[in-house]
Amino acid sequence: MAISIRKAKRINELPSYLFAEIDRRKRAALARGVDLIDLGVGDPDIPTPPKIVEKLMEGASKPVNHRYPNSAGLLEFRQAVADWYKRRFGVKLDPVKEVLSLIGSKEGIANMAVAFVDPGDLVLVPNPCYPVYHIGTSFCGGRNYFLPLTKENDFLPDLNAIPVELARQAKMLWINYPNNPTGAVAEKDFFAGVVEFAHRHNIIVCHDAAYTEMGFDGYRPMSFLEVDGAKEVGMEFHSLSKTFNMTGWRIGMAVGNHELVGALAQVKSNVDSGIFQAVQEAAIEALRLGDEIVEPSRKIFQERRDILVSGLRSAGIECEKPRATFYVWVSVPKGLTSAQFATRLLDEAGVVTTPGNGFGEAGEGYVRFTVCVDKKRLEEVTDRIRQVRF
Ligand SMILES: *Cc1c(COP(=O)(O)O)cnc(C)c1O
Repeated sequence: MAISIRKAKRINELPSYLFAEIDRRKRAALARGVDLIDLGVGDPDIPTPPKIVEKLMEGASKPVNHRYPNSAGLLEFRQAVADWYKRRFGVKLDPVKEVLSLIGSKEGIANMAVAFVDPGDLVLVPNPCYPVYHIGTSFCGGRNYFLPLTKENDFLPDLNAIPVELARQAKMLWINYPNNPTGAVAEKDFFAGVVEFAHRHNIIVCHDAAYTEMGFDGYRPMSFLEVDGAKEVGMEFHSLSKTFNMTGWRIGMAVGNHELVGALAQVKSNVDSGIFQAVQEAAIEALRLGDEIVEPSRKIFQERRDILVSGLRSAGIECEKPRATFYVWVSVPKGLTSAQFATRLLDEAGVVTTPGNGFGEAGEGYVRFTVCVDKKRLEEVTDRIRQVRF
C-alpha cells in the first residue's frame, strides 16, 4: 500500500487552473473531429532559422561541450549578450558581473523570488500578467500586491495609486513591456517614473523584456536599462525564445545591477548546472545575426496582426491593434464574460483563445488571441467568427 503523500502547502495553495474548462472542451472538440485553430498559446510556429540550427549541430559534435557547463553561462555567451545590448539599445554591460545566462527567462523570473523574497515580503505585480511573477512570490511565502492594468491607463500600472504605506513595505516590482497579455508598450517617461519610484521607496525593479524585438511598423521598443539610474535599481530579463523563434531551446538572460544579477547567480549555482554549451554557441550566432534573422519574422507577425485585427473589427469585435508582441487583446462583446466568450469561440467557431481573467482578475472583459498560425488560418478564424452572432 502506498504511503500517505502530502504535498507542500505551496503546491496546494496554487490558484485553481482557470484553463481546465477550456482544456476539457478543447479535447472534446478534437475528439469530435473539429478542425480547431489554436490561438491560445504564445509559441511561434515559425521554425528556428537554419543558421542557428547549424551552429547547434556543429557544437553538439564537440566533446568539450559534453561536460557540465558553467551555471552563469559561457563568457563568450555573456559577451555576446553585452555586445547585443550595446548595439541594440546603447546599453553598456559588464559581461562578467552584469550578465547571467538563464534556462529560459521563465527560470530566472521564478528564481528571483528565491534570491530576494523572504516570508512576508511584499512584491508589486501587474494584473493581468505573466503568472510566474506572482507564483514566484507565493512559492517563497511572500505577499503579492496587484497593480491593475486598465485601458484608461494604457495598460500601464499607476504607481501613484499605490498606498504610500505599501510602497514603503514593497521589496520588488515587476513590469513587462511590450506586454503579455495586453500587447501594450511603454515609453521612456513611464520607465523614468519607475526608476524614480524605486529610488524613493527602495524597491528592486524587474523588467521582463521578452518582446522588445517584436515591434511593428518600424517601432523599436526600448530597454528599461536605457533610462538614467535604471541600473541602480533593477535588472532586465530577456530571452532568445520569442526573438529568434527558439522557445524550445531554453535560453535567456538576466542583465543589469551587479548585486541583483550576482544574487540570482548564487541561487542558480546551487540548483542548476547551466545550459548545454552547444545551445549557447547557437545563441551567440543568433545574437550576432540579430535583425538579419528577426526582420523576416517581424514582417510575418505584422501581416498576421493586420489580418486578425481588421477581420475581428469587421466582425464587430473591438480590439487593440498592438504595436508589438504577437498578442491581440480583444474586448469581450457586451453581456458576456471572458470565459463565456472564449467558450463560445471554441464551441461555435472552433477557435481556441485564452480568457483574459486567466492572467488575473483585471483581465476580465478581454480574451487574448495569438497570431502564431499562418495567415490562411487567420483568415479562416475571422471568417468563422463573422458567422457567429455575439
Ligand atoms: C514567453 C514569455 C517568457 C518566457 O520566455 P522563456 O525565455 O521561453 O522562458 C517570459 N515572459 C513573458 C512575458 C513571456 O511571454
